[in-house]
Amino acid sequence: MTTTTELASSVREGDRRALARAITLVESTRADHRDDAVALLDAILPATGAATRVGISGAPGAGKSTFIETLGMHLVDAGHRVAVLAVDPSSARSGGSILGDKTRMEQLSRRTEAFIRPSPSGGTLGGVARRTREALLVCEAAGFDVVLVETVGVGQSEVAVAGMVDLFVLLLAPGAGDELQGVKRGIVELADLLVVNKADGDLADLARHTAADYGHALHLVRSNDDGAIDRVRTCSALLGEGIDELWEVVEQLVTAARVSGELDERRADQARSWMWSEVTDTLLDELRADPAVRARIDSLEADVTSGRVSPAAASRQVLAAFRSQ
Ligand code: GDP
Repeated sequence: MTTTTELASSVREGDRRALARAITLVESTRADHRDDAVALLDAILPATGAATRVGISGAPGAGKSTFIETLGMHLVDAGHRVAVLAVDPSSARSGGSILGDKTRMEQLSRRTEAFIRPSPSGGTLGGVARRTREALLVCEAAGFDVVLVETVGVGQSEVAVAGMVDLFVLLLAPGAGDELQGVKRGIVELADLLVVNKADGDLADLARHTAADYGHALHLVRSNDDGAIDRVRTCSALLGEGIDELWEVVEQLVTAARVSGELDERRADQARSWMWSEVTDTLLDELRADPAVRARIDSLEADVTSGRVSPAAASRQVLAAFRSQ
């Protein structure tokens, strides 16, 4: 049996099987695995932090997998090692996954310089996001210098992903406004880069117009935009057009943030809120598993839903039961 220390050093040597095992370990919800996972994360910590972490979001059909395939191939051809991870809210709910389909990113998945991991299924969105964040660190320790974190642009998972990456890219289809694309306004504001995909053939003009519209909208909402770099772009993932230029922009933005100290600050903030969400999640898990709480919870919930007891009073009783242990 391999110890956690051995597993950590195999990961750092770039051993792919060790990498897969390490990610399976951090994804596990078993309490005894959790101890090992924490030890593993501690052991690899010094080898993390060097990658460029990019979040990629967009509504289903916007072209995320085509885009990641094309971008990923461009990056590995340029000598990068690319890991692709996913946070998929549908996998949290149903155990199935929008993003986990094996046929996606077929070329990239065959490259040894690439590593593609579908979203862990089951659990809550918070749980899936936590495991992805840890998988990201494991990939960095294994020597991947670009980590792409993919999510579906329909809700809260973007916020979780923005909390673990250096730069957040929102991919849009030409035409419809963001509401019609199923993308919430807040998500557009979260994006560091907006990319209108499918700028090819009959859609090329429409893509340019869409980009111009978003450009105007973004200037309205972004008060601190320096204007030096155009943050709204078009590309064709299908034809591979505009992808090199886009990556150049990503590198410019990340380099500028590194030089100004913003990147360190962003990562420090992320680490701090990550710690607190760990504390919150762990406390909640313990509370829900607590026998005294479990004994009271059904009747308290019934009292609250029927209006017999106020949520405020019931929450006090839950906490009192927890503290009584
Ligand atoms: P996802 O659901 O966001 O992952 O989207 P997919 O990558 O599966 O793409 C959805 C559809 O859009 C597929 O039929 C793709 O072939 C098509 N598509 C993706 N990128 C482009 C592009 O750049 N141009 C055109 N014309 N079609 C594209």
